[in-house]
Amino acid sequence: MLTVFGTIALDTTRTPFHTVEKTLGGTATFASISASNYVFTSIVGIVGHDFPASYLDLLKDRVDIRGLTISQTGKTFHYDSSFGYDLSKRTTNKTELNVISNYQSTIPEEYVDSEYVYLANNDPLQNMNILKLFSKPKLIICDTMDFWIMNRRDEVIRMINKVDGIILNESEAKLLFKESNIFTCARLLGSIGPTFAVINKGENGSLLFYENEFYPLPAYPIEIIRDPTGAGDSFGGAFMGYLSQQGKLDSKSLKNAMMHGNIMGSFAIEDYGIEKLVNVNADDIKNRYEKYKEIFSF
Ligand code: AMP
Repeated sequence: MLTVFGTIALDTTRTPFHTVEKTLGGTATFASISASNYVFTSIVGIVGHDFPASYLDLLKDRVDIRGLTISQTGKTFHYDSSFGYDLSKRTTNKTELNVISNYQSTIPEEYVDSEYVYLANNDPLQNMNILKLFSKPKLIICDTMDFWIMNRRDEVIRMINKVDGIILNESEAKLLFKESNIFTCARLLGSIGPTFAVINKGENGSLLFYENEFYPLPAYPIEIIRDPTGAGDSFGGAFMGYLSQQGKLDSKSLKNAMMHGNIMGSFAIEDYGIEKLVNVNADDIKNRYEKYKEIFSF
Protein backbone atom coordinates (compact mmCIF):
# COMPACT_ATOMS: atom_id res chain seq x y z
CA MET A 1 0.00 0.00 0.00
CA LEU A 2 1.06 3.60 -0.63
CA THR A 3 0.47 6.10 2.15
CA VAL A 4 0.58 9.82 1.42
CA PHE A 5 1.10 12.34 4.22
CA GLY A 6 0.65 16.06 3.62
CA THR A 7 -1.75 18.96 3.73
CA ILE A 8 -5.43 18.72 2.91
CA ALA A 9 -6.30 22.30 2.29
CA LEU A 10 -8.75 24.93 1.26
CA ASP A 11 -7.03 26.94 -1.46
CA THR A 12 -7.78 30.44 -2.68
CA THR A 13 -6.14 30.88 -6.06
CA ARG A 14 -6.13 34.11 -8.02
CA THR A 15 -5.15 34.34 -11.68
CA PRO A 16 -5.73 37.31 -14.01
CA PHE A 17 -8.57 35.29 -15.56
CA HIS A 18 -10.40 33.84 -12.57
CA THR A 19 -10.35 33.43 -8.79
CA VAL A 20 -11.35 30.31 -6.90
CA GLU A 21 -11.97 30.63 -3.18
CA LYS A 22 -11.52 27.94 -0.57
CA THR A 23 -11.53 25.12 -3.05
CA LEU A 24 -10.20 21.65 -2.26
CA GLY A 25 -6.41 21.56 -2.45
CA GLY A 26 -3.38 20.61 -0.41
CA THR A 27 -0.32 18.59 -1.20
CA ALA A 28 -1.72 15.28 0.05
CA THR A 29 -4.94 15.85 -1.86
CA PHE A 30 -3.29 16.35 -5.25
CA ALA A 31 -0.63 13.69 -4.64
CA SER A 32 -3.01 10.99 -3.43
CA ILE A 33 -5.62 11.54 -6.15
CA SER A 34 -2.87 11.41 -8.74
CA ALA A 35 -1.26 8.29 -7.20
CA SER A 36 -4.61 6.50 -6.97
CA ASN A 37 -4.50 6.06 -10.75
CA TYR A 38 -1.64 3.61 -10.22
CA VAL A 39 -2.05 1.92 -6.82
CA PHE A 40 -4.31 1.67 -3.80
CA THR A 41 -3.55 4.87 -1.91
CA SER A 42 -4.23 5.98 1.62
CA ILE A 43 -3.99 9.46 3.05
CA VAL A 44 -2.90 10.83 6.43
CA GLY A 45 -3.61 14.40 7.50
CA ILE A 46 -5.92 16.73 9.35
CA VAL A 47 -8.76 19.06 8.39
CA GLY A 48 -10.92 21.39 10.47
CA HIS A 49 -14.61 21.66 11.28
CA ASP A 50 -15.07 23.93 8.26
CA PHE A 51 -14.05 21.23 5.76
CA PRO A 52 -17.04 20.63 3.45
CA ALA A 53 -18.65 17.18 3.57
CA SER A 54 -18.69 17.11 -0.25
CA TYR A 55 -14.87 17.31 -0.27
CA LEU A 56 -14.70 14.43 2.20
CA ASP A 57 -16.92 12.37 -0.10
CA LEU A 58 -14.78 13.24 -3.08
CA LEU A 59 -11.63 12.07 -1.29
CA LYS A 60 -13.38 8.96 0.00
CA ASP A 61 -14.28 8.01 -3.58
CA ARG A 62 -10.63 7.93 -4.60
CA VAL A 63 -8.49 7.12 -1.58
CA ASP A 64 -8.56 5.42 1.81
CA ILE A 65 -9.26 8.20 4.31
CA ARG A 66 -9.05 6.24 7.58
CA GLY A 67 -5.90 8.25 8.34
CA LEU A 68 -7.73 11.56 8.11
CA THR A 69 -8.39 13.43 11.37
CA ILE A 70 -11.24 15.94 11.55
CA SER A 71 -10.67 18.55 14.24
CA GLN A 72 -13.85 19.81 15.90
CA THR A 73 -12.11 22.94 17.19
CA GLY A 74 -9.73 24.21 14.52
CA LYS A 75 -10.00 25.44 10.95
CA THR A 76 -8.59 23.73 7.86
CA PHE A 77 -5.17 24.75 6.50
CA HIS A 78 -5.75 27.64 4.07
CA TYR A 79 -3.40 28.68 1.29
CA ASP A 80 -3.98 31.90 -0.64
CA SER A 81 -1.84 32.56 -3.70
CA SER A 82 -1.82 34.59 -6.92
CA PHE A 83 -0.43 34.20 -10.39
CA GLY A 84 0.21 37.00 -12.88
CA TYR A 85 0.07 36.57 -16.65
CA ASP A 86 3.23 34.50 -16.28
CA LEU A 87 1.54 31.47 -14.79
CA SER A 88 4.89 29.96 -13.86
CA LYS A 89 5.42 32.49 -11.05
CA ARG A 90 3.34 32.19 -7.91
CA THR A 91 3.07 34.72 -5.11
CA THR A 92 1.96 33.45 -1.71
CA ASN A 93 -0.51 35.90 -0.14
CA LYS A 94 -1.28 33.95 3.03
CA THR A 95 -0.42 30.59 4.58
CA GLU A 96 -2.81 29.88 7.44
CA LEU A 97 -1.53 26.70 9.05
CA ASN A 98 -4.56 26.41 11.41
CA VAL A 99 -5.06 22.73 12.37
CA ILE A 100 -1.74 21.57 10.98
CA SER A 101 0.36 23.76 13.31
CA ASN A 102 0.12 21.46 16.36
CA TYR A 103 -0.87 18.27 14.61
CA GLN A 104 0.51 15.09 16.18
CA SER A 105 0.05 12.58 13.41
CA THR A 106 -1.18 9.09 14.09
CA ILE A 107 -1.78 6.35 11.57
CA PRO A 108 -4.38 3.59 11.61
CA GLU A 109 -2.97 0.13 12.37
CA GLU A 110 -3.77 -0.94 8.81
CA TYR A 111 -1.26 1.60 7.43
CA VAL A 112 1.70 0.57 9.63
CA ASP A 113 3.13 -1.89 7.12
CA SER A 114 2.77 0.45 4.10
CA GLU A 115 5.63 -0.40 1.76
CA TYR A 116 5.54 2.99 0.08
CA VAL A 117 5.40 6.34 1.86
CA TYR A 118 5.15 9.69 0.13
CA LEU A 119 5.83 12.70 2.32
CA ALA A 120 4.14 15.44 0.37
CA ASN A 121 5.17 18.98 1.17
CA ASN A 122 4.48 19.58 4.86
CA ASP A 123 6.18 20.53 8.14
CA PRO A 124 9.52 18.62 7.95
CA LEU A 125 9.40 17.76 11.67
CA GLN A 126 5.96 16.22 11.27
CA ASN A 127 7.25 14.37 8.22
CA MET A 128 10.13 12.90 10.22
CA ASN A 129 7.84 11.99 13.13
CA ILE A 130 5.36 10.13 10.98
CA LEU A 131 8.14 8.02 9.49
CA LYS A 132 8.72 6.47 12.93
CA LEU A 133 5.19 5.03 12.82
CA PHE A 134 5.74 2.78 9.79
CA SER A 135 7.24 -0.67 10.34
CA LYS A 136 9.62 -0.90 7.37
CA PRO A 137 8.80 1.04 4.21
CA LYS A 138 10.56 -0.10 1.02
CA LEU A 139 10.58 3.35 -0.54
CA ILE A 140 10.17 6.82 0.98
CA ILE A 141 10.03 9.94 -1.17
CA CYS A 142 9.57 13.50 0.05
CA ASP A 143 8.82 16.92 -1.35
CA THR A 144 9.26 20.34 0.23
CA MET A 145 8.74 24.03 -0.65
CA ASP A 146 9.99 27.57 -0.03
CA PHE A 147 7.90 28.13 3.12
CA TRP A 148 9.65 25.26 4.97
CA ILE A 149 13.06 25.93 3.45
CA MET A 150 12.90 29.53 4.69
CA ASN A 151 11.45 28.72 8.11
CA ARG A 152 12.90 25.28 8.94
CA ARG A 153 15.95 24.73 6.76
CA ASP A 154 17.85 22.49 9.21
CA GLU A 155 14.87 20.20 9.65
CA VAL A 156 14.37 20.08 5.87
CA ILE A 157 17.98 18.88 5.47
CA ARG A 158 17.53 16.27 8.22
CA MET A 159 14.32 15.07 6.57
CA ILE A 160 16.02 14.75 3.16
CA ASN A 161 18.67 12.61 4.84
CA LYS A 162 16.00 10.11 5.88
CA VAL A 163 14.40 9.45 2.49
CA ASP A 164 15.25 7.41 -0.62
CA GLY A 165 14.22 10.10 -3.04
CA ILE A 166 13.34 13.77 -3.15
CA ILE A 167 11.25 15.78 -5.60
CA LEU A 168 11.29 19.56 -5.55
CA ASN A 169 11.10 22.42 -7.96
CA GLU A 170 13.93 24.40 -9.44
CA SER A 171 13.57 27.60 -7.41
CA GLU A 172 13.26 25.61 -4.18
CA ALA A 173 16.37 23.57 -4.95
CA LYS A 174 18.30 26.78 -5.63
CA LEU A 175 16.95 28.39 -2.46
CA LEU A 176 17.87 25.34 -0.38
CA PHE A 177 21.51 25.38 -1.40
CA LYS A 178 21.91 29.06 -2.32
CA GLU A 179 23.15 27.74 -5.62
CA SER A 180 22.31 28.85 -9.17
CA ASN A 181 23.10 25.72 -11.20
CA ILE A 182 20.37 23.10 -11.32
CA PHE A 183 22.79 20.20 -11.97
CA THR A 184 24.87 21.20 -8.95
CA CYS A 185 21.65 21.35 -6.90
CA ALA A 186 20.72 17.82 -8.01
CA ARG A 187 24.17 16.52 -7.10
CA LEU A 188 24.03 18.28 -3.72
CA LEU A 189 20.65 16.70 -3.02
CA GLY A 190 22.13 13.29 -3.76
CA SER A 191 25.05 14.02 -1.44
CA ILE A 192 22.86 14.53 1.63
CA GLY A 193 21.22 11.12 1.61
CA PRO A 194 18.70 10.20 -1.09
CA THR A 195 19.42 7.63 -3.81
CA PHE A 196 17.83 9.90 -6.37
CA ALA A 197 16.63 13.48 -6.78
CA VAL A 198 14.11 14.99 -9.18
CA ILE A 199 14.05 18.71 -9.85
CA ASN A 200 10.97 20.07 -11.62
CA LYS A 201 11.28 23.03 -13.96
CA GLY A 202 7.62 23.61 -14.83
CA GLU A 203 7.10 24.04 -18.56
CA ASN A 204 10.82 23.28 -19.04
CA GLY A 205 10.41 19.72 -17.84
CA SER A 206 12.31 17.91 -15.13
CA LEU A 207 15.72 16.55 -14.25
CA LEU A 208 16.49 13.22 -12.61
CA PHE A 209 19.80 12.59 -10.84
CA TYR A 210 20.48 8.90 -10.20
CA GLU A 211 23.69 6.91 -9.80
CA ASN A 212 25.82 9.88 -10.73
CA GLU A 213 23.96 10.46 -14.03
CA PHE A 214 21.63 13.29 -15.10
CA TYR A 215 18.45 12.49 -17.04
CA PRO A 216 16.57 15.57 -18.32
CA LEU A 217 13.00 15.17 -19.62
CA PRO A 218 10.97 17.84 -21.48
CA ALA A 219 7.51 18.66 -20.15
CA TYR A 220 4.39 17.38 -21.87
CA PRO A 221 3.28 20.35 -24.01
CA ILE A 222 0.08 22.02 -22.77
CA GLU A 223 -1.28 25.17 -24.39
CA ILE A 224 -4.23 25.97 -22.16
CA ILE A 225 -3.14 26.35 -18.56
CA ARG A 226 -5.75 27.54 -16.10
CA ASP A 227 -4.22 26.94 -12.68
CA PRO A 228 -0.71 25.59 -12.02
CA THR A 229 -1.53 24.89 -8.34
CA GLY A 230 -0.86 21.27 -7.48
CA ALA A 231 1.25 20.47 -10.53
CA GLY A 232 4.23 19.49 -8.35
CA ASP A 233 2.11 17.36 -6.02
CA SER A 234 0.33 15.65 -8.89
CA PHE A 235 3.74 14.96 -10.41
CA GLY A 236 4.97 13.54 -7.08
CA GLY A 237 1.89 11.38 -6.58
CA ALA A 238 2.09 9.86 -10.05
CA PHE A 239 5.86 9.38 -9.76
CA MET A 240 5.45 7.55 -6.46
CA GLY A 241 2.32 5.71 -7.60
CA TYR A 242 4.06 4.40 -10.70
CA LEU A 243 7.12 3.22 -8.74
CA SER A 244 4.86 1.52 -6.18
CA GLN A 245 3.00 -0.24 -8.98
CA GLN A 246 6.26 -1.42 -10.63
CA GLY A 247 7.89 -2.44 -7.33
CA LYS A 248 11.41 -1.77 -8.53
CA LEU A 249 13.90 1.05 -8.61
CA ASP A 250 16.22 1.37 -11.59
CA SER A 251 16.93 4.07 -14.15
CA LYS A 252 14.25 2.77 -16.55
CA SER A 253 11.47 2.77 -13.95
CA LEU A 254 12.61 6.15 -12.62
CA LYS A 255 12.51 7.65 -16.13
CA ASN A 256 9.06 6.19 -16.74
CA ALA A 257 7.94 7.47 -13.34
CA MET A 258 9.09 10.90 -14.44
CA MET A 259 7.00 10.63 -17.61
CA HIS A 260 3.94 9.70 -15.56
CA GLY A 261 4.70 12.54 -13.17
CA ASN A 262 4.75 15.00 -16.04
CA ILE A 263 1.57 13.54 -17.52
CA MET A 264 -0.43 13.88 -14.29
CA GLY A 265 1.05 17.32 -13.69
CA SER A 266 -0.07 18.31 -17.19
CA PHE A 267 -3.65 17.24 -16.43
CA ALA A 268 -3.68 19.10 -13.09
CA ILE A 269 -2.89 22.49 -14.62
CA GLU A 270 -5.61 22.31 -17.26
CA ASP A 271 -8.32 23.35 -14.83
CA TYR A 272 -8.77 24.98 -11.41
CA GLY A 273 -7.96 23.03 -8.26
CA ILE A 274 -8.58 19.31 -8.66
CA GLU A 275 -11.34 19.72 -11.31
CA LYS A 276 -9.43 18.06 -14.12
CA LEU A 277 -7.40 15.64 -12.05
CA VAL A 278 -10.41 13.84 -10.58
CA ASN A 279 -11.85 13.21 -14.02
CA VAL A 280 -8.77 11.64 -15.58
CA ASN A 281 -9.06 7.93 -16.39
CA ALA A 282 -6.67 5.15 -17.42
CA ASP A 283 -7.29 5.77 -21.15
CA ASP A 284 -6.47 9.47 -20.82
CA ILE A 285 -3.17 8.57 -19.16
CA LYS A 286 -2.36 5.89 -21.74
CA ASN A 287 -3.10 8.23 -24.65
CA ARG A 288 -0.96 10.99 -23.22
CA TYR A 289 1.86 8.50 -22.53
CA GLU A 290 1.80 7.28 -26.17
CA LYS A 291 1.79 10.83 -27.48
CA TYR A 292 4.63 11.77 -25.13
CA LYS A 293 6.75 8.86 -26.40
CA GLU A 294 5.99 9.85 -29.99
CA ILE A 295 7.44 13.30 -29.33
CA PHE A 296 10.82 11.72 -28.62
CA SER A 297 10.97 9.40 -31.64
CA PHE A 298 12.35 10.98 -34.78
P1 AMP B 1 2.22 22.83 -5.70
O1 AMP B 1 2.22 21.44 -6.23
O2 AMP B 1 3.58 23.29 -5.31
O3 AMP B 1 1.51 23.80 -6.59
O4 AMP B 1 1.41 22.76 -4.33
C1 AMP B 1 0.21 23.43 -4.12
C2 AMP B 1 -0.46 23.00 -2.83
O5 AMP B 1 0.43 23.18 -1.72
C3 AMP B 1 -1.66 23.84 -2.53
O6 AMP B 1 -2.82 23.07 -2.76
C4 AMP B 1 -1.52 24.27 -1.06
O7 AMP B 1 -2.65 24.01 -0.29
C5 AMP B 1 -0.32 23.50 -0.57
N1 AMP B 1 0.59 24.30 0.27
C6 AMP B 1 0.92 25.60 0.10
N2 AMP B 1 1.81 26.00 1.03
C7 AMP B 1 2.07 24.92 1.80
C8 AMP B 1 2.91 24.68 2.92
N3 AMP B 1 3.68 25.63 3.46
N4 AMP B 1 2.95 23.43 3.45
C9 AMP B 1 2.19 22.45 2.92
N5 AMP B 1 1.36 22.61 1.87
C10 AMP B 1 1.29 23.83 1.31
